[in-house]
Order: sequence, then structure tokens, then C-alpha cells
Amino acid sequence: MSDSSSAPVTIAIDGPAGSGKSSVSREAARRLGYGYLDTGAAYRALAWHVLDRESGADTTDEQTVQDAAAAFPYAISLDPDDYWVRVGDVDVTAAIREPRVSAAVSGVARIPAVRENVNTLFRALVRDSGRPGVVVEGRDITTVVAPDAPVRILLTASPEVRAARRSAELSGEDAAAVASALHRRDAADSKVVDFLSAADGVTVVDSTDLDFAQTVAAVLDVVAAEMNTQTQETNDGR
Ligand code: C5P
Repeated sequence: MSDSSSAPVTIAIDGPAGSGKSSVSREAARRLGYGYLDTGAAYRALAWHVLDRESGADTTDEQTVQDAAAAFPYAISLDPDDYWVRVGDVDVTAAIREPRVSAAVSGVARIPAVRENVNTLFRALVRDSGRPGVVVEGRDITTVVAPDAPVRILLTASPEVRAARRSAELSGEDAAAVASALHRRDAADSKVVDFLSAADGVTVVDSTDLDFAQTVAAVLDVVAAEMNTQTQETNDGR
């Protein structure tokens, strides 16, 4: 599919919060020798930046967010073994996971001009990655950011399982509060992009009854099958 002179292969993975897509995508990237791009981190870092710039800044105000986005010194690692996110010289890798950022992020992500900016950034990060491929995960990768990717996957899980996984990650937080925050965020996000049903040509991997290793294996199976099909089509001159 790809040689050193061609553009990196994009593996597009979408899914809702708690579907396991970040950890699964990162492990799949490791196993493939690819880069890993967490697109949600850009929206989170921007929400953090707005909250941080003027304390108490209104993340639901479009103009405030667009002004912040215009001067947004964002950097992210594509190395699955060395993941970090920075805004300017501040390492925000942990800070962007705080509940106050999770609560604000949907408001930032719903602004079309912001989405266009970050999508351009994502495509440039993949193009300039210097890697044979990049696993890109988010909400609209299979549909908007990389609709022509050779492999497109929607990773799902039941709402109950997703809430349980997220509250296990955020130990110390009240499980019911975590579940309701997650469902609120899903509801807000799904008004902007549809990540709960698969677009044409997108393969669904349902992780409800799978553990982490089984989910990674299921994703890698889809990658291998899709890449084989594409190679065969190329060889057949289709
Ligand atoms: O994936 P994660 O939960 O970290 O994403 C944080 C937020 O970023 C989502 O709730 C959503 O508002 C936004 N997002 C998005 N499009 C993407 C990735 C994330 O709107 N491709």
C-alpha cells in the first residue's frame, strides 16, 4: 500500500467516549509501527486554553473561542510510546483530562470554524508524520477528516459499559456523576457529528463483550482484511 515515497496510510477510528478508542488505537498503532493521533486532545487543549487564558472565560461564547483558537500554540506527540500534549511550553497531558475540561470541550468543538482549523492541522500532522501510517482517532475521522482512508472503523460499546470504563479511569469520582457527565457530552457531541452509527463503508467493532486485548485484536483483524482487499484491488488493476 505505502512505500517510503508515498503519503502515510491513515487508519481512521471513530467512537463515543468510553468505547476504548484511545487506548485501543494507541496499542494498534504500536503493533503496526504507526503513529497515533488523538484528535480529541486538540479540542480538549483548546478548551483548556480558553479556560486558562482568562480565568472563567466563557467556553460557550463563539467569539471568545475563535479568538483563542487564532492564537493556539498547540503541539502533540504522534509517538504511541511517548504521548504528550502541549500548549505553548505548558505540558497539558494530564490537565486536559480534568472534569472541568471534559465539561467544556463540547462547546468548543461545536464551532464550525474551529473544526475546520483543527481538521487542517490533523491532515498536516499525518502528512508530515514521517511514518508509514498513522492511526487517527476521534468522532469524525471516518466521515470528515479522512473519508478516503483505506481502513475506517467505528468502535462502539453499550452505554453502561462505556460509563463503567470511564468511571474506572477516573478513580475518586462518583460513578453516577461520571455516567451522567459522559451521557451529557455524548448528547451534545452527537448534535455536531454522528459517531453513533457507521457511515457507508465503515466497519463496526463492538467492544461491549470484549476485553482490551480482544478489542485490539478485532481492530487489527479489520486493518489486515481491509489492507488485503485494497492490495488485491490494486493488483487486479481495479
Ligand atoms: O475523544 P475525547 O473524548 O477525548 O474527545 C473530547 C471531545 O472532543 C469530544 O467530547 C468532542 O466534543 C470533541 N471531539 C470532536 N471531534 C473529534 C474528536 C473529539 O468533536 N474528532
